[in-house]
Amino acid sequence: PVTPVTVLGLGAMGSALATAFLDGGRPVTVWNRTPARADALAARGATRADDARQAVTAGELVVLCVLDHTAAYATLGAIGDALKGRTLVHLTNGTPAQAREFAEWATQRGARYVDGGIMAVPPMIGGPGSLVLYSGDRSALEEHRAALELLGAARWLGDDPGLASLYDLALLSGMYGLFAGYLHATALARTEGGSTREFTDELLIPWMTAMMSGFPDWARQIDSGEFGPASSPLAMQATAFVNLIEASTAQGVDPALMIPVQELLNRAVSAGLGDQDSPALATLLSGPGKEP
Ligand code: NDP
Repeated sequence: PVTPVTVLGLGAMGSALATAFLDGGRPVTVWNRTPARADALAARGATRADDARQAVTAGELVVLCVLDHTAAYATLGAIGDALKGRTLVHLTNGTPAQAREFAEWATQRGARYVDGGIMAVPPMIGGPGSLVLYSGDRSALEEHRAALELLGAARWLGDDPGLASLYDLALLSGMYGLFAGYLHATALARTEGGSTREFTDELLIPWMTAMMSGFPDWARQIDSGEFGPASSPLAMQATAFVNLIEASTAQGVDPALMIPVQELLNRAVSAGLGDQDSPALATLLSGPGKEP
């Protein structure tokens, strides 16, 4: 028999998750604080629960995906006892500390708890590029792996329930850094009337791709704490970076996204790292590397 699935929270993401379970042939029960958001799913064959307790009781696998942890407690807080014997897969974005606290709260009520971080936007759910990070109760995850893989590839990170959100937030940090660089670069390039499209396709994407190819070597240096000889010393970079800020300001581009980078470079020089290369900046952020 196929495991019945419950999806609590039918925002953009929760609706995409419920749709993927339905498309995969699972019996799905849905609930949302604002009931109208269940209409489209009910029309596609989902069972609509009258309240969250009824929804939880209908599923062996309970997936919760609401705005934040306050909303998560608002959803389950009063009906925690209904979770007993079920697996709760919690896909609400949060911090590692919040995930650990929720794990404790749910396991105290007899649930098996898996925390998750969704590395996809709603239209990607169920498609080839979709990835979900998981941590917490591994046997519960493995038991429900077939259902969860309907959402996307399932990557296990460890027993500590905080790990999925830690890696989720780390990946989002990489993404936002990339977005910040992209936005500043295109803002600067278009000040003289050039095409953003042409700049993006012909110059920026190839440049960023070439820069990223150095990351495996950065990673090796950061892990070992041994930084190789510098071809682009931080003192040189700190001097050149002033031009980037000055030119941006002169061209009418707000340098807000780049100023923290200048500050970090200056701090590196003051800390005596002027003759080191970029990977050594990691020591300013998180201390010396640890052997994995
Ligand atoms: P939406 O804003 O579309 O939906 C928010 C959901 O949370 C709704 O179901 C809403 O219910 C519910 N909610 C908010 N407050 C409460 C409350 N106090 N009590 C009960 N329910 C509440 O957000 P998404 O669906 O896009 O996001 C859901 C989660 O998924 C978030 O944690 C988000 O960070 C994460 N995520 C989203 C991605 C995206 O691109 N959309 C990508 C990866 C992760 P109601 O309809 O009644 O308002």
